[in-house]
Order: sequence, then C-alpha cells, then structure tokens
Amino acid sequence: MKRVDEQFIKLRQAGHGYKRIARTLNISIDDVKRTCSELDAARLSGQCKQCHTSITSIKGKKRKQFCSDRCRWDYWNSFNKS
Ligand SMILES: [Zn+2]
Repeated sequence: MKRVDEQFIKLRQAGHGYKRIARTLNISIDDVKRTCSELDAARLSGQCKQCHTSITSIKGKKRKQFCSDRCRWDYWNSFNKS
C-alpha cells in the first residue's frame, strides 16, 4: 500500500472531509475521490476461502468469506475430518 493511502485512511477515519484531506496530503479533490472509491473497492473484494473464486462483499454488510453455502460447508467439513 502506498504511503498516501495510509495517511488517507487515517484522515478519513478521523472524519475529515474531501477538501481537508486534499489539502493535508497536497493532492487534488479528484484524487481524493478516486482514492476513496479505490479503497472501498479493495476492502469489499476478496476470495472464497474454499475455491478461491473472487467475491465482492456488499457495502455495509459483513465481509463474505465464501462464495456459496456449499463452499462454507466444504470448508468446515474438511476441518472436522482432520
Ligand atoms: Zn467458493
């Protein structure tokens, strides 16, 4: 992760608006908006723990770990066997 992103996340968590973040990091507001959506996309995308299919979680919901109930079942089942 780029250094700007780390600072960006901190500022955002602190509740600063786009303008303030742009000024603090010395980047344009468009850059702030773009970084925002990139970080959101990165946070919402992941892989199924069982079959490694890429999955996208729904914003505001708990992050998904499996693409389907079948994969969840297979995953925990393989644990119980060993
Ligand atoms: Zn799966």
